[in-house]
Amino acid sequence: MHTKRSLTGDRPTGRLHLGHYIGSLQNRLELQKKGYDQFVMIADVQALSAQAEHPEKVRENILELALDYLAAGIDPKKTTIFIQSLVPEIAELTVYFLNLVTVLRLGQNPTVKTEMVEKGFTKTVPAGFFMHPVNQAADILAFRSDVVPVGEDQLPMIEQTNEIADKFNRIYKKTFKKVAPLLSKTPRLPGIDGKAKMGKSLGNAIFLADSGKEIREKVQKMYTDPKHIHVSDPGRVEGNTVFTYLDAFDPDVKEVQRLKKQYQEGGLGDVALKKRLAEILESTIRPIREKRQKLAKNPKAVMRILEKGTEHARTEAAKTMHVVRKAMKIDYL
Ligand code: ATP
Ligand code: MG
Repeated sequence: MHTKRSLTGDRPTGRLHLGHYIGSLQNRLELQKKGYDQFVMIADVQALSAQAEHPEKVRENILELALDYLAAGIDPKKTTIFIQSLVPEIAELTVYFLNLVTVLRLGQNPTVKTEMVEKGFTKTVPAGFFMHPVNQAADILAFRSDVVPVGEDQLPMIEQTNEIADKFNRIYKKTFKKVAPLLSKTPRLPGIDGKAKMGKSLGNAIFLADSGKEIREKVQKMYTDPKHIHVSDPGRVEGNTVFTYLDAFDPDVKEVQRLKKQYQEGGLGDVALKKRLAEILESTIRPIREKRQKLAKNPKAVMRILEKGTEHARTEAAKTMHVVRKAMKIDYL
């Protein structure tokens, strides 16, 4: 087994979408192939921090998320998939880490700031949500990860994790290594509405479980160039969501270059362009969707995978806590 560790997670707040796939999942598959000791976490504690009053939604999305992982190619024989709340060592580490962070610093975290606006939390943010960067630091460091394959929105979280690790090492004892983010070539996929980020809670996502019809309908709605009305009109490529997606998903880079040129000069219609994109997305998603449908027939087997993964994750996190308690001089008995 590779000596390098990787940890990532997703909140069980909905199904996975193309943003996850291109921004993080593909890199996880790559690390899996390279033999990294990889952990993939279903971040239910974090999901609850934003919707404590809807535990049923978090619960139902545990299986959905696990199905997405397995269908996309995460192999439980090579990667440990686990549920965050069932590894209480992470909660314990979070509490100790909270002493190493100021409230002021938490309020400056750009990811938290953006998410607070998205979730309407500017005046009513739960303390648990406000401090979730600390919880994320505990997730990553409980497994002493070297690398975290994430989307661009998560970079401030990795920065804060390294700050916490540094402070812990300085105050107590050198325990944690520096963690590096692993970004993909599309670190932020915009939504079909052309907005900054595709997000599962933002109503602008194409999901890995979407049908061919849903994909076509969503691509139809995509934002292009509002001034490009007739096929013969010259059109804009920059900020044109269809081209952003072709850049991300179309394997034929040369052809995309040719299409861009044709679009800019005039003579390429949105209908033809969108047809191409819908077909490419369908060929990306179809095998995932089909595998997902098969796996969904046996939810018990999927839950058993999570049970085994969680057991292993807990053992590994407990090893870290042993070292942490010693470093903090709280290994009394
Ligand atoms: P939510 O709307 O609940 O915040 P989300 O769609 O943003 O959901 P998260 O669970 O917050 O998904 O993110 C999981 C991982 O996927 C993170 O590493 C994040 O950076 C990455 N990711 C999410 N959306 C995108 C995107 N549009 N482009 C690239 N990476 C993304
Ligand atoms: Mg998010």
